[in-house]
Amino acid sequence: MGQKSEQLHIIFLPYMAPGHMIPMVDIARVFVSHSNIKATIITTPTNASSMSSIKFEHKITFLTTPLPLKDVGLPEGCENLVSASTRDITFKLFRAIEMLHPKLESMLVDNKPDVIVSDYLYPWTVDVANRLGIPRLAFSGSCFFNNCISHNLEKFRPHDRIESESQEFVVPNLPDAINLTRSQLQDIVKGKTSFNALFERLKEAEKNSFGVLMNSFYELEHDYADYCRKEMGIKSWQIGPLFLFNKSITSSIDHNCMQWLDSKMPKSVLYICFGSLTRFTKSQHTEMANALKDSGCFFIWVLGKVLKSNDNDQTKEVTEEWWLPDWFEEIITMKENGDRLGFVIKGWAPQVPILKHRAIGGFLTHCGWNSILEGVSAGVPLITWPVFADQFYNEKLITQVLKIGVEVGNVIWKAWATDETEVIKNEKIKTAIRRVMGGGEEAKEIRRKVKELSDLAHKAIEKGGSSYNDIKALLHVIRLHKQNKMLHN
Ligand code: UDP
Repeated sequence: MGQKSEQLHIIFLPYMAPGHMIPMVDIARVFVSHSNIKATIITTPTNASSMSSIKFEHKITFLTTPLPLKDVGLPEGCENLVSASTRDITFKLFRAIEMLHPKLESMLVDNKPDVIVSDYLYPWTVDVANRLGIPRLAFSGSCFFNNCISHNLEKFRPHDRIESESQEFVVPNLPDAINLTRSQLQDIVKGKTSFNALFERLKEAEKNSFGVLMNSFYELEHDYADYCRKEMGIKSWQIGPLFLFNKSITSSIDHNCMQWLDSKMPKSVLYICFGSLTRFTKSQHTEMANALKDSGCFFIWVLGKVLKSNDNDQTKEVTEEWWLPDWFEEIITMKENGDRLGFVIKGWAPQVPILKHRAIGGFLTHCGWNSILEGVSAGVPLITWPVFADQFYNEKLITQVLKIGVEVGNVIWKAWATDETEVIKNEKIKTAIRRVMGGGEEAKEIRRKVKELSDLAHKAIEKGGSSYNDIKALLHVIRLHKQNKMLHN
């Protein structure tokens, strides 16, 4: 007692996509803010430099190794799923990341960590951690609710008894009655795909880990956090919303949309963003543009790129472009009392500061888990438009459990962010926008509920809050683990 504890060296291995990297780098920043911890993040050069604008504590080191891009036929710099505009490119990138395994493994071993925080997509880190006799903590970037849905779909298979893709059914045995349709399910739960074996391996690795880190807070989904622990037997720590711990990232934002927001009335602007990976078609952009024109509310739209036509010439390289219908530029700059109606951001938007701005009154989101946490923490009502991965399950947490958002009405899950799907028509989009931005009773009730959750999110990370305490508890057990290991060596 009273002795100075040994320094803990934690190595972080994030997957190469913003939705995975951003929160994992946040974990590193949170951990090193506690005494006697140093962190090393292993990634590739381009990914490391994309983080260079963040002021890092001296206790965080980046170690980099290049991806074998040439070997898989990818151009230089294509080191993140953000740059993958087609399935083909995505698969090549997966392959390149897989080929990096031996190199990553030797970097892990050579740097002698006390703990590995690994993206769940690297199941092999379980063996490395076992060999080194150290804890492996898995991080998937998703939520408890999603884990519960996936688990019970697989266990009870209610969708096998449903005849049509569009018929609703209830997921059995959960704390709430959650309605889904078959068309909203990920294809790995419906039948055998080439990814089933991988997912089995990921689950096995999670089970064999020291535990799982969840970017969530207890008050947001307590029934599902309890369910995961008690019914599914997963050892986990809820340590979020992570980005709230690192407020300094958002301090000085120099983007012209921020000044424009300053001039707007509270809760008058709709923010639209589909995360870092989703791509839509030109027709979908046209429907969205029409919906914004018709609903007439102020907006900030973070535009995704669309594939540029290569006239079906397979020899031409696939390229992407920012695309909007010609007439839309005029709409954006249309003067309303000498003002413009909206902003289109072509590129990376400062999402967290935008959402925190008092002028934002709604968030049309693809339901990526980071985006949901950011919207909830800012107390902003959500308009949900899920697209792929776990997003349809996340949507149900928002609309059926927490009741802090309304659905646009997309019901077709797609396997890859870049695949084409059925276009969502203007009518559906603008109906959802009006329900949230129109200021009716439904919107007021949603606003009240999301404000309550926002307060709870901020409390969770304060001293004595649920996430704060869970981080303390986690650091305590991993320190004990190190002490025990030293005693037995
Ligand atoms: N993001 C951002 N600016 C953008 C697009 C995305 O800051 O223009 C951030 C967003 O704040 C979130 C992350 O990128 O932290 C996206 O993660 P999410 O889980 O929401 O979706 P994904 O990109 O993984 O589909």
